[in-house]
Amino acid sequence: MTPAKTIIVIGSGLAGLTATTQLSLTHHLPVLLLELTSKPGGNSIKASSGINGAPTRYQSVGDSAFLSDTIKSAGTPFVVSAAEERGRREKLMNALVDTSASAVYWLTDECGVDLSKVAMLGGHSVARTHRGAGKKTPGYDIVSTLLGRLDKEPLVKVQTESRVTRLLKEGEGGEVVGVEYTGQGNVTETVYGPVVVATGGFAGDARGLLAQYRPDLAGIPSTNDARQGTQPLLQAVGAAVVDMDQVQVHPTGFVDEKDGEAMVKFLAAEALRGEGGILLLGDGKRFVNELEMREHVTKVIMDRADRLQTPTRQWDVNILLDEGAAAALESHMGFYLWKGLLRKTTAGELALPALEGTLQDYADVVAGKKPDEFGRVAFGNWTLTDVKPDSVVYVGKVTPVVHFTMGGVVINERSQVLDEQGEPIKGLWAAGEITGGLHGQNRLGGSSLLECVVFGRIAGDEAAAFYNRGSDA
Ligand SMILES: Cc1cc2nc3c(=O)[nH]c(=O)nc-3n(C[C@H](O)[C@H](O)[C@H](O)COP(=O)(O)OP(=O)(O)OC[C@H]3O[C@@H](n4cnc5c(N)ncnc54)[C@H](O)[C@@H]3O)c2cc1C
Repeated sequence: MTPAKTIIVIGSGLAGLTATTQLSLTHHLPVLLLELTSKPGGNSIKASSGINGAPTRYQSVGDSAFLSDTIKSAGTPFVVSAAEERGRREKLMNALVDTSASAVYWLTDECGVDLSKVAMLGGHSVARTHRGAGKKTPGYDIVSTLLGRLDKEPLVKVQTESRVTRLLKEGEGGEVVGVEYTGQGNVTETVYGPVVVATGGFAGDARGLLAQYRPDLAGIPSTNDARQGTQPLLQAVGAAVVDMDQVQVHPTGFVDEKDGEAMVKFLAAEALRGEGGILLLGDGKRFVNELEMREHVTKVIMDRADRLQTPTRQWDVNILLDEGAAAALESHMGFYLWKGLLRKTTAGELALPALEGTLQDYADVVAGKKPDEFGRVAFGNWTLTDVKPDSVVYVGKVTPVVHFTMGGVVINERSQVLDEQGEPIKGLWAAGEITGGLHGQNRLGGSSLLECVVFGRIAGDEAAAFYNRGSDA
């Protein structure tokens, strides 16, 4: 076999862009980045709440609880796994948490992304999810900055409208040596080199992997555009998969009243709740600690809220922000108001039977006059204290949405893809949502962008070392 001329990265979301940046700008190696769609960015470009990091200079409190929050969130799949598997997951979690601050600083100091605002999302014990202070959402900000840097880099060739259909492996137990892809004009091409797979999750694969692993979620809308899951491509060269039935249903996708039946919904970013927003049943009553883990909030919605009489499976829930919470989220609010997903109104105009009492109760909790009956202890930037019929509020309809897949291909802390025996498959790395096991049964908000950066960088370093050694690593 002739030595590889390039390193192949599949997928141009944050994990792929990070690996490509590491390979080209840090290690000065040639990269062919293959992307299925016509526009790079994947689901990463839609990320709206931010990226976790702890402890960072942007946090106002000390933070040593990120690992324990991550372990708690991972739940049963982590606790019940056999010793060797638990050890593997622990190493992934340690890598995620221990290098989280340097991942944030890589984006801010080296790449020039603003991540100076910090919010507390559900399941976190302190505020550690970073986003910029400007008008752009964090996913767009991060992805466009990385793309801008790569655009000027002659070592990188980005090829869109190119679907990878097969990984090429040399012999039984041999190494991955390249890929086959269908490119522009529907022509099938072969290219050789070590491979980093960063093709994302399968929350948009309703008829394929979702139907196979979680048929019970059929009919629930998603935040992900329709896209085929790619774990089978890696399984075909011997990769093991794990936790494929662990799918995150996010509690708050916006129901656009102009297109209520849409199966792809805009996410109501968790930062809306993190900055002070609350959830209400159809009659205006609060019913849950909005900053509990996503899994819990979703379950309570499905148990307590009315099912809408619609062909798609949706529930009757409102999200409400006061002016303080809204002001902290200026960039998000502009978009949501423009799209008609939120509307500005007053408590009186809303005319929900239980609303006034609910709002005054919550305002009293925020003011420290009494504890919250649902156990909420952080209130972001909520400022409304004395609720009157003309108090300004922002309201929208939300419903649970299929959002993220925790399962995927098995990797180790070096981002090497492992086979069923736990052995690395030579020439093959993976990073981002395509991988599984790190988040167990619940991914914390902000930890996916983080895993893309942490393991994307590791995959880039490892693939570079392998390439420089001329295979056999
Ligand atoms: C609306 C929304 C908001 C979110 N907000 C946040 C947030 O605030 N914080 C957070 O941490 N996480 C958030 N997430 C989750 C997070 O954005 C994703 O999990 C993460 O970005 C996944 O990145 P990735 O690089 O692994 O995959 P992606 O960004 O999805 O990229 C994968 C790419 O691979 C391409 N691809 C797939 N198959 C092939 C193939 N066969 N050949 C070639 N290319 C292929 C795809 O087209 C895609 O461009 C959000 C997700 C959504 C949908």
